[in-house]
Amino acid sequence: MSSYTAQVKISNAPPMARVYTYAQDSQVGPLVEDSVEVSKIGRRLEGPRVGIWDQEVMKASADSNGDFLIKPDRRQFDQVQAFVSSQKTLDLFEAYAQRSLPWAFDNETLGVGPHAGEGVNAYYQRFAESVSFYYFDSKALGKQVQTAQSADVVSHETGHAILDGLKPEYGHTFERETKAFHEAFGDCAAMLLTLSRPVNCQHILDQSGGDLSHENCLSRLGEEFGTAVRRLNNNPADDRDYLRTHLNPFTYVDPNTLPSDGPRDELSGESHSFCQVWSRAFYQAVAGIFAQQPGRDAADLQRSGEIVGHLFTLGTQMASPARARYAQVASAMVRADRLLYDGQHSQALQQAFASANIACDLEEVPDFTWQQRPTNASEAQTLVDQLAPQGSGFVAQRVIQDGHGFTLVDGLRKETLRHQQHGVSSEVAEGITLTFDGNGRLLHRVYDQPSQDSERVGLGDELRRLPNGPASWQAVRNLADGTLLVARLPVFVD
Ligand SMILES: [Zn+2]
Repeated sequence: MSSYTAQVKISNAPPMARVYTYAQDSQVGPLVEDSVEVSKIGRRLEGPRVGIWDQEVMKASADSNGDFLIKPDRRQFDQVQAFVSSQKTLDLFEAYAQRSLPWAFDNETLGVGPHAGEGVNAYYQRFAESVSFYYFDSKALGKQVQTAQSADVVSHETGHAILDGLKPEYGHTFERETKAFHEAFGDCAAMLLTLSRPVNCQHILDQSGGDLSHENCLSRLGEEFGTAVRRLNNNPADDRDYLRTHLNPFTYVDPNTLPSDGPRDELSGESHSFCQVWSRAFYQAVAGIFAQQPGRDAADLQRSGEIVGHLFTLGTQMASPARARYAQVASAMVRADRLLYDGQHSQALQQAFASANIACDLEEVPDFTWQQRPTNASEAQTLVDQLAPQGSGFVAQRVIQDGHGFTLVDGLRKETLRHQQHGVSSEVAEGITLTFDGNGRLLHRVYDQPSQDSERVGLGDELRRLPNGPASWQAVRNLADGTLLVARLPVFVD
């Protein structure tokens, strides 16, 4: 018996299901074979964290080997492609955070709808607990474009869901910079998914000749979708083969000083425009860290993506819980590099942020060690009171254990802001985040300055803009001062 046992080869590798997928989209490269843990994909594209829903066509079933080797001529391919892109995006961020990440809703499973209907867009909606992908006819491409078939588009929308879980308050503010950061997070998620696949890394190096200042399938986002969309608008000057490029000329200015919207090639305060400032810096960070690698081959490029992914995920967690500021996330990434990599990439990060005019000054942290580890928000209140500026009134909200052994404490304060011009009111939040090491030593501290002005500008944008797709705000109730209290809904279109 014992000799038999000794001969049995024990494998720790989890059972895998084979899938066909586009590593980016049909315009970038051919179908490739990939694999997903059976425990995540199940037999009907439904696992514990991500599940396909489809009102238009029956869900795909695994074949007798447990695989989903379905070609794009069947609509079930869109389901497989969307599932794989969404699940792998979540897997990446969980690997960067080294913990299981929550959604912003109670359900454990994010719904992924690859055939949500006809339209030129894709959504994340917290209250629907799902991401939705639409399809449209493209004369330019001579086909019906399925947005679910783009790894970039699915990863971008899943990025919204991941950030909403990390920073739920970001979904409630009208202000431009936070909304733009949400879009940027989606674009960064798409870049990180691209870099996680060796086939893409080789393709990026082939296209750019190893010099990432040349356009390639990493710098370009949403190639198939963008080509179709840009040729729909009857403006020949706009006919580019992608939606956005991270090799863009946009640099940071206060977004509240920009026009609320504008032509695609000019920077505006619209979130899909202003997000490009962040994604430009992020792309430059990948390029700068890649330049530091010894071999500068595809494996080094993949590794550069992993490093930036770790810094971005920890940096985002260390930023304010209430509103995103590019400079604040940038400096948190520099801190994260000191904590995770002894500052090996700090220079590359600083150069990348400087290239987009994003400040990233590290503020000194008070010498502080807690007496006792807080286990819940009420225990954390003392820390917030001790470490926030006097009289700031932040109320502790959450204590988060990061997978690296850090403890993050969040606090918020909220006030009702009256918008005289529009006769409405909205809630505005500011926050504090404290990051401690395993021994309770304070590592990083951020807190927001009052931000009513940016909230006013953002609400004005929203009230002027005609609804395009699902409503992004709702009326809550009449207030005693005669104004209508309105709230932004955590919905992100495109
Ligand atoms: Zn988006």
